[in-house]
Amino acid sequence: MPDSLTLPDDPRAARRLKNLLDVRRIYLEPAVTGFARGREVLARFPDAERVEVASHWRIPELFGNEGGVKDWVRNKRTVLVLGVKKGLAMRPNGRSADFIAPSASNGCALACVYCYVPRRKGFANPITTFVNIEQICASIGRHAAKQGPRTTPGQTDPAAWVYDLGENGDASVDALVSDNIRDLTTLFRGLPNAKGSFATKYVNRDLLGYDPQGRMRIRFSLMPQRAARLLDVRTSPIAERIAAIDDFVRAGWEVHLNFSPVVVYEGWTADYAELLRHLDEVLSPAAKAQAKAEVIFLTHNEALHELNLGWHPAAEAMLWAPRLQETKLSENGQQNLRYKAALKAKMVRMFLDLIRDNAPWCEVRYAF
Ligand code: SF4
Repeated sequence: MPDSLTLPDDPRAARRLKNLLDVRRIYLEPAVTGFARGREVLARFPDAERVEVASHWRIPELFGNEGGVKDWVRNKRTVLVLGVKKGLAMRPNGRSADFIAPSASNGCALACVYCYVPRRKGFANPITTFVNIEQICASIGRHAAKQGPRTTPGQTDPAAWVYDLGENGDASVDALVSDNIRDLTTLFRGLPNAKGSFATKYVNRDLLGYDPQGRMRIRFSLMPQRAARLLDVRTSPIAERIAAIDDFVRAGWEVHLNFSPVVVYEGWTADYAELLRHLDEVLSPAAKAQAKAEVIFLTHNEALHELNLGWHPAAEAMLWAPRLQETKLSENGQQNLRYKAALKAKMVRMFLDLIRDNAPWCEVRYAF
């Protein structure tokens, strides 16, 4: 492993990477140095200041701060947290995957305006990398072994149990920090009955060398660039994500399309039609043959609305549409906002029609 981030030869790409991640301070739990992964990551950022903390969950100067986004972005860029993942149980899912695997990280260096992760862990929420990856992999391996072969096809997959690996962050960005995703890829390559899966908004071309042999699914999140320019802060541009799809398919990844969140704004159907036509034009027959999609309309949140008004009102104007939205109390007691049920049912049908008319090769796994 190199001593720091390996910067690409292209100066623009190098600048972008440095803007995304430039680790200056590492908060770490005392047990971290007892793990090979912990020592590797520390060696990768030798000049970073180290601050020992009792728990990766309790770093008051990082979490819960509702201040300006400048501070969160600075933290996202310059702070890394290293911890040990305690709960290693799988959770049943049934939508993006059959099971949610214990995460090898949480937090994110990207800053999507609609992101629900900060609702749980404060707003800066920089990447926390878990260093006990061997235990995480062993736990997934044992769980998959217990499932036995998948005999009934489902929307998640016709023949494999699917494990979501990226519920609380962006695994492509995590792979800039550690080899956790590489190790998970090695694990799934060897499991006859299971696949790993994660959604991403970042193109990390290092993953092209991971050799997943069809046992890893990367779900590129896509929305019209007009919306992404406002909402997907610090992510790879949509055109770059689309341009990467064929390369990932050639490199042995299964590539699905994650239309999430679908945000409704003036002109959204025309923009999505254009996006779908573009996909139809540029993707190879091989990419189309294996592509499937998931479609998830926006869930917003009142607390996030207030916060976004403080730093990105133009983006918030696109997310906030009380005329179209209704409140729904979430499982954890938050006031969430969804598009009104009857309206949303109509909009889901419109979206499915757009796919049928513009990208008929694209099977939809689920839409809601
Ligand atoms: S990539 Fe995902 S986890 Fe990261 S900020 Fe965007 S929505 Fe949140």
